Amino acid sequence: MRKKGKFGSIIFMMVLVAGIAGAVFVSFSPIFESAPPRITVNNNGFWNLKAPLHVSIEDASGIKSYKATLISKKEKVVLAQEQLTFAEAEISFTLDAPKRITSFKPDEVTVVIEASDASKWNFLMGNTAQEKFVMKVDTKKPHLSTLTNSMYIHKGGSGIVIFKADDPNLSELYIDTNYKKRFQPQPFYKDGYYISLVAWKITEPSFKATIVAKDSAGNVRKSTIPFRARDRKYRISKIKISDRFLDGKIAELAETFEIDSEDRLEQFKVINEDVRKKNEDLIHEITSVVDPDEMIETLSIKPFYPLRNGKKVASFGDHRYYYYKGAKISESYHLGLDLASVKMGKILTQNAGEVIFTDYNGLYGNMPAVAHGLGLYTIYGHCSSIAVQKGDSVQAGELIANTGMSGYAMGDHLHFGVLVQGIEVRPEEWMDRKWLKLNIRDTIKDAKKIIDRQ
Ligand SMILES: [Zn+2]
Repeated sequence: MRKKGKFGSIIFMMVLVAGIAGAVFVSFSPIFESAPPRITVNNNGFWNLKAPLHVSIEDASGIKSYKATLISKKEKVVLAQEQLTFAEAEISFTLDAPKRITSFKPDEVTVVIEASDASKWNFLMGNTAQEKFVMKVDTKKPHLSTLTNSMYIHKGGSGIVIFKADDPNLSELYIDTNYKKRFQPQPFYKDGYYISLVAWKITEPSFKATIVAKDSAGNVRKSTIPFRARDRKYRISKIKISDRFLDGKIAELAETFEIDSEDRLEQFKVINEDVRKKNEDLIHEITSVVDPDEMIETLSIKPFYPLRNGKKVASFGDHRYYYYKGAKISESYHLGLDLASVKMGKILTQNAGEVIFTDYNGLYGNMPAVAHGLGLYTIYGHCSSIAVQKGDSVQAGELIANTGMSGYAMGDHLHFGVLVQGIEVRPEEWMDRKWLKLNIRDTIKDAKKIIDRQ
């Protein structure tokens, strides 16, 4: 009896251990997991019935079956259905809209995805999930029409465009160029109209600009702006680097910018290329800012002439090659207009704006920058002193700085730069009364006339 009793309790213990092990197995093994499959569909609540929907289903114990049904006011269609021979932990597939649905165009559809997993949970029945995705149907492309644009755009120059963009679910609007730069339009004058300045970057051999409008359902409309692109020749100059220059200005700048190398030519190369790139990147960053929601009433720009009696000492767009003892050692583009008058001459702005930068910027020295609206910016390099502070509003005729030779400058002068959404453009255009009237003022005036008639 005793022996048998002991033996019995061992059996009991073994059963208990097996039972606990079983329970642990059930609760930790994916075969007995109790979570339903997770269903995701890439959608933002809109569908153009053209792009397929991407469905993915995940489950730890594996997916056994799934079904996708499309429900509209008029019908119920099974889009996909499958019983899997071997359960898979993750499946993904695409759903196309049934062909005939496009003929009666429902305003809204619901896609129902059902899935069951291979779990032995729930008395071996497994877990099921059902998700509903309600989507507004939008099959129409946005409407685009260009109202007016400046007729010509020159290499290195600026242009303007005013257009209408129409879509109940407009989600993206920008101007694409052949050189990857995107310009951001802003709302103009009345609801549904937009305006943007564009620029043909000096280093690009050709120019093309296309308005792109996308809606929430993924419908895209593109419209090329009918600019007449005109080539323009810029100066190419050979500059001989002298020992005096290397021992003087370059040695001084190498110290200021803490250039590692002791080699004078290497110092020049680093300053002319790496430091310049860093300084220009900063300029591009601060002058690329545009508020896509700010309503533009107009852009009334008067001709710029920042330095009274300023004589041109270097042009915009000069492509400079640098030679030392007959060998080419470096190159750069001059991206502003250099003007010189008296030492520490007064720099006045002819157009109101907001001061966005007043710091030292490497080769550009002390460099105030002003935002004039619509993505138009001006910068003033090599200043000896700055009369304004970041955040200041300046009025036409206000003193903003005095000329000097801070940064990479051999004599007292002003480096005057004009930028359109981060792209350097030819300042001479913005200093030319006739160009401003023909390209900017009249283009805006004509667009307003058209809008008022509509
Ligand atoms: Zn310059």
